[in-house]
Amino acid sequence: MSGRFLSIGECMVELSQAGAGLLRKGFAGDTLNTAWYARACFSAQWAVDYCTALGDDAMSDEMLAFFQEAGIGTSRIRRIKGKSPGLYMISLRDGERSFSYWRENSAARQLAADPDFLRQAIESADVIYFSGITLAILSRDDADTLLAEARRAKASGKLVAFDPNIRPRLWSGYDEMHATISEGARAASLVLPSFDDEAAHFGDGSIEATIERYRALGVHDIVVKNGADGATLNFGGSESFVPAEKVEQVIDTTSAGDSFNGAFLARYLETSDATAAARFAAKVAARVVSEHGALVAKSKLGI
Ligand code: ADP
Repeated sequence: MSGRFLSIGECMVELSQAGAGLLRKGFAGDTLNTAWYARACFSAQWAVDYCTALGDDAMSDEMLAFFQEAGIGTSRIRRIKGKSPGLYMISLRDGERSFSYWRENSAARQLAADPDFLRQAIESADVIYFSGITLAILSRDDADTLLAEARRAKASGKLVAFDPNIRPRLWSGYDEMHATISEGARAASLVLPSFDDEAAHFGDGSIEATIERYRALGVHDIVVKNGADGATLNFGGSESFVPAEKVEQVIDTTSAGDSFNGAFLARYLETSDATAAARFAAKVAARVVSEHGALVAKSKLGI
């Protein structure tokens, strides 16, 4: 089987500590990470495209070249005059990582500001992926545009996958966050939440409660990730559990959920076997948490 997978969201410039006061530059962001792992796991019959907005500066050009180098299609990326990508910096103090962000004014905030461009991007794809972070960075009107296009894609029978990826600091208030994330789920056919986020921010007392809440929103297929405690799948009411892989030493959990999503979607779309795809995704995510950084090279993923 072949097709086009489109991931929609924001990739940022990442600055991390490189010792002696130096900083290392990289590129990352939840939906880009998922596109990266989907690309690594899909066969060559599948295209993986990224939909975002970039500026016209040198950093935007570098980011675009980075996507192309990774085999990720860039024809659905809009360029905006005078804008730049967002940026975040990872600081290390006593082994604890903390993050500072400069993303309020990033080009990606306007990724849905041209409705025709967004519609064409979504129409060109067989499978759509977006997240709660994608919705959080958009203006209310632009979030409505994206949600309407996602609903349209779902109604036409396309697989629309959504990771709620709940980040309260990106939202102006809890009510707006709850309402918009629920709308994101309603527009999707497959939702991939992380249980710790859902418990903390929606008050779910159990994985069953998370599944029930998303089913009540009309989501057909649900994968609840639960870190080292594995993942629970409910596909059209039929439930299965897939344990996490044992990891000798967890090095960096950045991108665990994003890599799981990319690997799961790639394998599921090619085989239609959700439980086997989750087993495969758990293996890939276990490799990812055993390495530093958000984007682990395909050669280290054991695939
Ligand atoms: P998120 O990064 O979105 O919070 P999770 O922490 O739930 O996502 O992790 C996603 C997947 O990554 C899990 O379902 C599991 O397969 C794998 N994973 C995460 N942490 C570990 C760990 N400590 N050991 C083994 N696998 C892990």
